[in-house]
Amino acid sequence: MTSGPDVNACKLDSPATSEQLNQIIASLEATLDGELVSQILTCVHCGLCADSCHYFLTNPENEAIPAYKAGLIADFYKSRHTVAGRFFPKLVGARPLDAGSVAAWVDSLYGRCSLCGRCTLNCTMGIGIHQIIRRGRTALASAGLVPSSLQSTVDTAINSGNNMGISKEEWLDTIAWLTEELQGETGDPTAELPLDKTDVDYLYSINPREAKFYPLSLLAAGKIFYAAGVSWTFASDNYDVTNYGLFSGDDEKSALIASRLQDTAIRLRAKTIILGECGHGFNANRWEGPEWRGKPHEIPEISILDILERMLAEKKITVDPGKHTKPVTLHDPCNLGRLGGVVDPQRVVLRQAVSNLVEMNPNREKNFCCGGGGGQLSMTRYAERRIKAGQMKADQIAATGAKVVVAPCHNCIDQLSELNKHYKLGVDIKTVTEMVADALVLNPPA
Ligand code: SF4
Ligand code: SF4
Repeated sequence: MTSGPDVNACKLDSPATSEQLNQIIASLEATLDGELVSQILTCVHCGLCADSCHYFLTNPENEAIPAYKAGLIADFYKSRHTVAGRFFPKLVGARPLDAGSVAAWVDSLYGRCSLCGRCTLNCTMGIGIHQIIRRGRTALASAGLVPSSLQSTVDTAINSGNNMGISKEEWLDTIAWLTEELQGETGDPTAELPLDKTDVDYLYSINPREAKFYPLSLLAAGKIFYAAGVSWTFASDNYDVTNYGLFSGDDEKSALIASRLQDTAIRLRAKTIILGECGHGFNANRWEGPEWRGKPHEIPEISILDILERMLAEKKITVDPGKHTKPVTLHDPCNLGRLGGVVDPQRVVLRQAVSNLVEMNPNREKNFCCGGGGGQLSMTRYAERRIKAGQMKADQIAATGAKVVVAPCHNCIDQLSELNKHYKLGVDIKTVTEMVADALVLNPPA
């Protein structure tokens, strides 16, 4: 993930060229399928989605209402494909897309949405609002109108195999250093963080932010796998669990990135890919990946949270909740919980690993987005809005009285860290894996 100003700001804020306009229209015509189109026209303007969206709740502007955002695409559709929309556009709210309105699309679809799906969950008519918004992003992406800092994150992943552009040398150095740490912590000079091992049960994929900024979360995973005695490996290339194509809207690049983890697992003859703690990485790989690739995955993919739950159930690892006595709360990443269906394993695991787990309200699939999803963390031009939209999450955390926030997603952790500072929450922020590793009892008495 990159930071810095958007170098294409001028392009995003200016009227579109006729070529861009044609590309956007062609993309919308090609990607709006029958199911979405039938949904798009059923909005009854009840306003319920507005009260679901952290952007609207923290800044009640018209442009922040989910129905407004999806309505941009609905109005375009009506202007071209309904009789009333063609002949009496004002009467039915049909709006053809013109060069001047494209900047407003960029601002609403990229700049006021984290693709969290909370509006979709609460829509009276069951409209897939966030999916429609992503289709709008797909159309803008086809015309080169992705904010540059998001686009460069996708391009870095495509060009280097990981979204941080970590070189192989850096990655191998990190693993060598972490191996020494693991040997020190376990007192076992033969303990290792395996790399490119073949015929293993698990290939462990990571968020490259871990290698760059949070290497101790990788050590935590290694320590747990060591204690459980499982057969696993890191890969030296194409190990990235993230996929920012989900956020840019570019399905072709999304498919290419999603294929790489599969190719790595096939190369190493791994039986299963473990998806490390990354909310959007889970959704992009586990659910969207086969759609983008147009075929089922060759190698099954499973969340690390399911693996941790299984290791505890099978007594392959033992934890002592007495090692975590401060009140702990749990954040549900939108792409993992609401959109990915993983809400129970992390709770089963934490109830065993900590003494005092306090739920946020609302939680599970109804939880509020932290504000960092949808590519917002990489789109520096919208940073101020992102921090403001995160106030719902900051208030949720403060209300629990927790001293530790557990977030099974490194993107969420970055946003929560910024919220922690901005809203003076005074909490520690950890992954589930780190909490388990800290509570681990190595060689428990038989
Ligand atoms: S997907 Fe989330 S951020 Fe986007 S409009 Fe819906 S509720 Fe708001
Ligand atoms: S909740 Fe659904 S039906 Fe109601 S305004 Fe929003 S999009 Fe339209």
